[in-house]
Amino acid sequence: MAADQRIVIENCSIATVDADDTEYASGHVVISGNRVESLGAGRAPEGLENVVRRIDATGHLVTPGLINTHHHFYQWITRGLATDHNLFDWLVALYPTWARIDEPMVRSAAQGSLAMMARGGVTTAMDHHYVHPRGSGDLSGAIIGAARDMGVRFTLARGSMDRGEKDGGLPPDFAVETLEGALAATEETVERHHDASFDAMTQVAVAPCSPFSISTELLKQGAELARRLGVRLHTHGSETVEEEKFCHELFGMGPTDYFESTGWLGEDVWMAHCVHMNDSDIAAFARTKTGVAHCPSSNARLAAGIARVPDMLAAGVPVGLGVDGTASNESGELHTELRNALLINRLGAHREAALNARQALRLGTFGGAQVLGRAAEIGSLEPGKLADLVLWKLDTLAHASIADPVTALVFGAAAPVTASFVNGRQIVEQGRLLTADEDAIARSTREQAQRLARIAGQA
Ligand SMILES: [Zn+2]
Repeated sequence: MAADQRIVIENCSIATVDADDTEYASGHVVISGNRVESLGAGRAPEGLENVVRRIDATGHLVTPGLINTHHHFYQWITRGLATDHNLFDWLVALYPTWARIDEPMVRSAAQGSLAMMARGGVTTAMDHHYVHPRGSGDLSGAIIGAARDMGVRFTLARGSMDRGEKDGGLPPDFAVETLEGALAATEETVERHHDASFDAMTQVAVAPCSPFSISTELLKQGAELARRLGVRLHTHGSETVEEEKFCHELFGMGPTDYFESTGWLGEDVWMAHCVHMNDSDIAAFARTKTGVAHCPSSNARLAAGIARVPDMLAAGVPVGLGVDGTASNESGELHTELRNALLINRLGAHREAALNARQALRLGTFGGAQVLGRAAEIGSLEPGKLADLVLWKLDTLAHASIADPVTALVFGAAAPVTASFVNGRQIVEQGRLLTADEDAIARSTREQAQRLARIAGQA
C-alpha cells in the first residue's frame, strides 16, 4: 500500500496493549501506509482522504499482531518423534536426524512453521537456527527468503554449536561448527541481512545454542561480536534440572552465573525458557533487563517444569512468549500459547493470581516486542507504530457467549483470524494465507520430512 493510502477498520472491540491497557468496546483503527495513523472509540473521523478500503469489523476484537520470540523452524519436519522423553534424552534421540538437514528441507520447514503461525495471528516471527551441517547450503538465506515471501516480520537468531560429543557436548561431532567458522558465518549473516531501520522486516541476532552444546569461548566471543555489530543476543538458558547439574559440574556454577561471567546478561539479550531460576537469578535478570522467551507448551511437553513468570514480571523482567521448535510443540501455534501460559502458571506457586487474560495477551504482544528490542515499533496499537494487527472473529459458536472479548481470546478456543496485517499489508483473509499456498506447503513439508527420515535412516 502506498504511503498516503488509508485502510479504515470500524465497529470492532480494540485491545491496544498500550502502557495503560486502553481498550475500546466499539472503536476504529486507521492504517496509513505501513503505520497506525489513529485509533479510538466510535467511528473513524469523517472526511479522510485516500481511503482504499473500509472494513466493517462488527463481532471482532482487534489486537496488535502476535510476536513469537523463540522457535526452531527446521523441526517442522521432525514432529511427533521422541514424544515421551525429557530434554536431554530427546536431544540425543533427534540430533543424528537433525544433523542431516539441507537447504531444501530447511526452506520447506521454514515455510510450514511460518504459515502455521501467520494464519494464527503471528505478525512477527523468529527462528533460532543453530544446526549448520557442513555442505548443507545457505540455510540462513533460505529461512530469511521464506519469511520475506510470506510477508511476516522476522528475526533470524543465527545459532551455532561448537561443543560436540568429543568435547563433552550432546550433538554428534559432524553436526557442529568450529569456533572461528561459527563466528565468521554469523558476522557474514548480520552484514548481509540485518536491517536496523524502524520499519525493518528482517533483523539478525547472534545466538549460540545452549551451554551444553557450545564452548565458553563461543559465548564470550559471540557476545563481543554482537555488541561490535550492534545486534541482539539470544540463547537457551536454565531449561531443565539436568542443565543446571551440567553447569555446576562443568563450570562450578549455575547457568545464570555462568551467563553473567561470559557477558550474557544485559538489555540486548533474551533467553529461551528460564525455568529453573532462583530468586537471585531473577534479580540478576531484572537488574540487567535481560529478556525471557517463555515457552509453556514446550516446557510441559519435555517435562522441564514451570517458569516463574509472575515473579519475573513482578521484578520487572521483560517476558515474551515462544512456541519453541515444533519437535517439542507439535502444534506450532502462538495464539494457543496465551491460554497455555495462563493455565500452566496457575498450576505454580501463585495459583489463581499468577496471570490474568490481559497479562497473557501482553506477553504475546508487547512483551515479545520488548525482548526482540522492538518495543518502539510494534507490540501495541498506538499512532505512529507499525501497522501489524489482527482481527479475531469472536461472534460465532465458539466465543459469542463469553463475557468479554479479551477473555474470549485467551480463555476460549483458538479464535479464527478474519484478517491479519503486517506493515500495513494484509497477509491473512478468513483464516487463509494470501501470500502462500498452504496445501502446496503441506505437500512439500511431508516430502521433505520423508526425505530426511530416509537419509537419516541410511546414515
Ligand atoms: Zn529452543
